[in-house]
Amino acid sequence: MIVLMHAGASESEVQAVSDLIADRGLKPLQLPGGDHTAIGIASAISPDERESLADVLRSMAGVSNVVHVSRPYKLASREFHRASTFVSVKDIVIGGRDLVVMAGPCAIESHEQLMAAATAVKASGARVLRGGAFKPRTSPYSFQGLQRDGLRIMRDVGMQTGLATVTEVIDPHDVDTVAEHVDMLQIGARNMQNYALLVAAGRSSKPILLKRGPSATIDEFLFAAEYILHEGNDQIVLCERGVLPLDRTYTRNTLDVAAVPVLKEISHLPVIVDPSHATGHARYVQAAALAAIAAGADGLIVEVHPEPRRALSDGQQSLTPEGFSELMQAAARVGGAVGRTADW
Ligand code: PEP
Ligand code: MN
Repeated sequence: MIVLMHAGASESEVQAVSDLIADRGLKPLQLPGGDHTAIGIASAISPDERESLADVLRSMAGVSNVVHVSRPYKLASREFHRASTFVSVKDIVIGGRDLVVMAGPCAIESHEQLMAAATAVKASGARVLRGGAFKPRTSPYSFQGLQRDGLRIMRDVGMQTGLATVTEVIDPHDVDTVAEHVDMLQIGARNMQNYALLVAAGRSSKPILLKRGPSATIDEFLFAAEYILHEGNDQIVLCERGVLPLDRTYTRNTLDVAAVPVLKEISHLPVIVDPSHATGHARYVQAAALAAIAAGADGLIVEVHPEPRRALSDGQQSLTPEGFSELMQAAARVGGAVGRTADW
């Protein structure tokens, strides 16, 4: 942290700042410049003290600005964890050279529907089966998911096909039950700042797929990851799924494709992209998916339904098995062009 003093700050004001820093058990370092004096803090500040100390310093006479030198999310940031984190979902590693694709329906509707989706996405090269059992819907009248029956279907289809599985958990009290049925827990965009859920996920031994909230900044996204890391779970995959659009005439959300290289630079966690929720229309999903891979994403999560027109949720953005197969072939070409392994 560096405290910048106003040009006209008096010696006693500079001294008062140094004294306050020293009183907190930290080491002040005066850095006289031409017109301005800056005071650095040459010792580590604990994360819980950081903001309150900055607030006090900002309120002191003669202080012009207080700037943080390091990022406030210590565990999610690359500053303190240089090496990239690899996330293991069963025998699948996310964050290495291999692109990993997760695919399946928005919601689990029946054993037959999930099995048809699973067989198709596996044949095209997906390694993780997605499907919601608990659906967070905007309207309480929309299909809420098969819930516990859906979890059982997911577990059965995962076992029968050999695919790893991911499903969303929306209630902190359900984390253990959901974890007994699937290989990875999804925290949805609407729940990115559900802190009780993040803490419960952090205490789970399952890897977590954390989706970015539609209006969350990159810093807020990484603070959400920090909650999970803080509880001891470092197996987190970040997922960019589109942020609030300027207008919804053409797309459901706006894919923040630049968030991919930004997150890869400032965090050590793997990053995947959801082109389905980002665009909201099946016909744009492939273009968004390819952009994501070109931008450095470690994988994708894509909605695929055996019969999108009959889907109980998100049918308009779900690919048919044929559309998904086409996407996968194009993704392998783009992946190869940017140095990724995509040999499905
Ligand atoms: C989903 O994956 O079906 C979903 C609800 O996604 P999001 O949380 O990104 O809206
Ligand atoms: Mn969906």
